[in-house]
Amino acid sequence: MSNEAQPARSLPTHAPMDQFARQGDELLIGGMPLSRLAARVGRTPFYAYDRSLLSQRVAELRAALPSGLKLHYAMKANPMPAVVCHMAGLVDGIDVASAGELRVALDSGADPAEISFAGPGKRHEELAQAVAAGILINIESFREVSLLAEITRDSGYRARVAVRVNPDFELKHSGMKMGGGPKQFGVDAEQVPELLAAIGRAELDFEGFHLFSGSQSLKPEAIVDAQCQSYALALRLAEHAPSPVRFLNLGGGFGIPYFPGEQRLDLASIGANLAQIQREAREALPQAELVIELGRYLVGEAGIYVARVLDRKVSRGQVYLVTDGGLHHHLSASGNFGQVIRKNYPVAIGNRLEAPVESGVSVVGPLCTPLDLLGDKMNLNEAQPGDLVVIYQSGAYGHTASPQAFLGHEAALEVLV
Ligand SMILES: *Cc1c(COP(=O)(O)O)cnc(C)c1O
Repeated sequence: MSNEAQPARSLPTHAPMDQFARQGDELLIGGMPLSRLAARVGRTPFYAYDRSLLSQRVAELRAALPSGLKLHYAMKANPMPAVVCHMAGLVDGIDVASAGELRVALDSGADPAEISFAGPGKRHEELAQAVAAGILINIESFREVSLLAEITRDSGYRARVAVRVNPDFELKHSGMKMGGGPKQFGVDAEQVPELLAAIGRAELDFEGFHLFSGSQSLKPEAIVDAQCQSYALALRLAEHAPSPVRFLNLGGGFGIPYFPGEQRLDLASIGANLAQIQREAREALPQAELVIELGRYLVGEAGIYVARVLDRKVSRGQVYLVTDGGLHHHLSASGNFGQVIRKNYPVAIGNRLEAPVESGVSVVGPLCTPLDLLGDKMNLNEAQPGDLVVIYQSGAYGHTASPQAFLGHEAALEVLV
């Protein structure tokens, strides 16, 4: 259990945050006690990512998925260069969403042949850089076909492209839907045959399809369903392709448990389904390499955010731990990054794991807004100024997904341990 010790039986609890070992009062990050790590980092707040947990997650995933299936890391989840370098050594490819991410991906040593670039608003310069780099571009509009034709003409470098399809279905029960209905992402499935004809006329090097229907799903049935529908749609669209499909990215959407009552995703049925799709694809699309792309699932559980308690205030009976970190560093833990109803991330006092538990404690940041709430009325080990508050499940969409300039505090540091 995280530090939500002895909850009432009927209340949902957080999934156990047992990925990190402990030593007495101290949480261990990459084997190092948290207090010592904080001393090594030199100041709080900081994000810490555990290298061995990243490796372990990829190994577990490989064991659950059919061999031969390619695993890509969607680096927007955590673009820290050291993390991307580590991941590049573990996965088969990197998915980037901007020229800035492309630079980090290329620096990481990832094979350009295995880097792909998606995003609804790619600038001319970004496309030109991508073509020169020799990476795969996931086309998301007719405009991109014309731009790439022009870039190819001007540079003499041939553009490698796949079509990002806005499917006619969505990932059910997901945290964020990114396909189905009207969307800014991809090209509507019904327009894809026309787009494929344009790609053929422009003499771009067509490689295949990219389908991404949603994010943060904890329902294996929903993921299986989306993968089956994605595959079926790709088969139908392949009939219109100017050349055989060599690349088929079926998306991802694997979630991690953030909130009370959520459980870790069971991969068994997802792995079995992908194996089935792979068998069918060997017949139907014999040249196609199957890919899934994951961000959050690969890195989210391996990271924590650490802030120091500055003050302990009691307001009309309610305990507030005021920390040096807050929503400006960790927007999603404050509940302001796409959540409809604010819920608590799992939180611990990472250097007081054996202290008595007190209930109804709120963890807040230093900002002058009531939105700066990192934990609302939680059961936590008793903490005093100087102690270290840990927010688990912070390896994805943390540091770079937060408004760090808000109120002019210093940015959080990041370490890979
Ligand atoms: C954001 C994104 C991902 C990663 O999503 P996660 O939920 O972090 O796994 C993958 N593919 C595309 C196209 C994305 O936009």
